[in-house]
Amino acid sequence: MLRATVGLRQDAVGQVELNLDEGLVGLAAERKSAVVIEHASKHARFKYFPETGEEQFESLMAAPLLVRGVALGVLAVQTIESRSFDREDVDTLVTCAHLLTPVVLNAQMIDSVAVSEEQRAVDDVTLALSGVPMRGRKQERESRSVEVRGIGTSRGIAIGPVAKLGHLDLERIDYSPRPSIEEEEVDLMQALHDARHDLDDTRKEMGEEFGPDLAAVFHTHIQILEDKGFLVKLQNAVRETGDGRAALRDVLAVYRKQFDRIADPYFRERAWDVEDVGRRVMARLLGVRQDTAPLSAGTIVVVDNILPGFFARLDLENVAAIVAEHGGATSHGAIFARTLEIPAVIGIPGLLEACHPGELAIVDGTEGTVHFSPDEHLVAEYERARQRYAVAIQHLDALRDRPAETRDGRRLRLTANVGLVSDLRLVEKHGGDGVGLFRTELLVLAHRGFPDEMEQRQLYERVASGMAPRPVTIRTLDLGGDKDIADFGLEDEENPQLGCRSVRLSLERAGVFRAQLRAILRASITRNVRLMLPMVSSLTELRRVKEIIAEARAELDKAGADYDREIPVGLMIEVPSAALIADLLAQECDFFSIGTNDLTQYTLAVDRSNEHVAHLYDPLHPAVLSLIDRSVRAAGRAGIPVSLCGEMANNPLAVPILVGLGIEELSGAPSSLPVVKEIIHALDAGDADADAREAREAATAEEVHAIAARRLRRAGLLDHADIGAWLRPIVERAERAI
Ligand code: PEP
Ligand code: MG
Repeated sequence: MLRATVGLRQDAVGQVELNLDEGLVGLAAERKSAVVIEHASKHARFKYFPETGEEQFESLMAAPLLVRGVALGVLAVQTIESRSFDREDVDTLVTCAHLLTPVVLNAQMIDSVAVSEEQRAVDDVTLALSGVPMRGRKQERESRSVEVRGIGTSRGIAIGPVAKLGHLDLERIDYSPRPSIEEEEVDLMQALHDARHDLDDTRKEMGEEFGPDLAAVFHTHIQILEDKGFLVKLQNAVRETGDGRAALRDVLAVYRKQFDRIADPYFRERAWDVEDVGRRVMARLLGVRQDTAPLSAGTIVVVDNILPGFFARLDLENVAAIVAEHGGATSHGAIFARTLEIPAVIGIPGLLEACHPGELAIVDGTEGTVHFSPDEHLVAEYERARQRYAVAIQHLDALRDRPAETRDGRRLRLTANVGLVSDLRLVEKHGGDGVGLFRTELLVLAHRGFPDEMEQRQLYERVASGMAPRPVTIRTLDLGGDKDIADFGLEDEENPQLGCRSVRLSLERAGVFRAQLRAILRASITRNVRLMLPMVSSLTELRRVKEIIAEARAELDKAGADYDREIPVGLMIEVPSAALIADLLAQECDFFSIGTNDLTQYTLAVDRSNEHVAHLYDPLHPAVLSLIDRSVRAAGRAGIPVSLCGEMANNPLAVPILVGLGIEELSGAPSSLPVVKEIIHALDAGDADADAREAREAATAEEVHAIAARRLRRAGLLDHADIGAWLRPIVERAERAI
């Protein structure tokens, strides 16, 4: 149905209707890919509506606005004269569509609240035409409990007093409206205006402190504040009630209710953006910029959701941990907490009811548990664990400049896995030798849409120049599988881990891929960038990617752009097929990095994110070791470097085996580098080689654990002043299992 138009005849509005399977624009939505039609009038689906007074267009290029496989709309360009569109034209349109998608999505989400109750019932089937499924009634909260469990999203242990923060309870705050409705409205509008300014400042501050990737979140907030529907609703409500607080409360409640009915957590989480904006306005209306009291040192902050705005407002020095009732692991707040190394547990039903301000709490961000008012025994136990953890992490500060070298002089490079500019500080803090894995998909997540080429380039440049001359390995987009995190038009797949993920997805979106490659190449002028391809599973795939890289280089050459012509192009060994043909792959690439998170998943057929089979997931399984060994040997024969960047690099039991297998570089979480370095220092490479030989012959993962445990014990690591107490239970468990 034609609902609005600029350019067509106004009297056609509400009169002209087109099904999705009719017309040419709908073709792009139906196919979920860009379409180019040179002679529209000759096309079977061509439909012309004389009543709209539209011109007779002959050529058309259209790209869908896709969110998680759902077409929200179509961006089309038409010409009266017949013309052809080349690949660059299509790439540009597709990029524009990617950039527009989050804007349209936000507008639709916001707009969906504007419809009447009856209409909303209709919309329950589909949210604003987008096909986002709605869910049934809200689940009941669990009852109060001393120990509560959630999702541990940021590692570490903290013990401290609880402060419930940021929960501006619009029901309970002390607020007196102005005597006249007009004055109240003026105040509310002024609060909106001020909140808009705050957001601008916050966006700037966050951009300077953490980089453009995180600052992008605040674009969404600004968009909400600028939304006409939001404004009109508030105006109507304040005119009706004469009370700005009540107006805000009611409008936010409408939004919350509507968003809460969305089944998909990704979309549902967007409600918190509206909530955050609402609180900002309320804080302004109350005449306070900060809606939180100053914190005492070591506070456990309890919130209903970790909103991005908190990180700009909180006194982070005094925050020991964050616990949130709501939120998912992919929410921005969770990412911010991880980035800042603040232990965090989120998604705890009934949390706000279960705790009291000032009571003591223990947060274990690794296990995802929180204890309120714990007994002395538990506090003492966790205090020991906390100290062990803190000491182990601090140790690197003292060792920061020492190379990671075994007792007999075998040198390894210890690099970090990062995904945000702000992580670079942690690499410095923990003495990383560079970045072994830069996960570019986090930028897409923080952005809630696809960043343009310039923005990607700026980010990569900051990482490359910040680390120079140390190497930075930038991995191309690795979306899909368990990283279903982006507005990337991912289809729902029966089996996403085996589906169109990672480099396969990049090959399907060649335009977006080329843009990313150009951005990485341009950032390589510091001559310390390596380009890495995730999840390559065949030589054909590698060759196809290299063709696209050659195209991207040719485009840069044509534009006269500078980049590192010697940039190493390597691939991740993440699937068994790659390890099995490693000799062939090594002939055609410049380095390997073994991604054991996926290699373990695919070798053992164990979903890495399924807790029911987690006990079967073990990178020290002899089958996985055999594939690692095979890849290392192939790299050696071809004379190319090989690193390992899975979580295995952080596993103390894996370190002696990996050293013995001849891995030259281990890339892990920045905070785990100190422990790994300590272990390497205590080892003798000759012993590690013998361990690796034995491990390769081992029949079970338990045997491998025991071999590694024996080495850590013999190397004297259990008596290590800093990490001994932390390693002891790990080693003893491994010894007992055999
Ligand atoms: C891996 O699979 O080991 C890896 C490092 O990649 P990711 O964890 O991002 O899939
Ligand atoms: Mg992987």
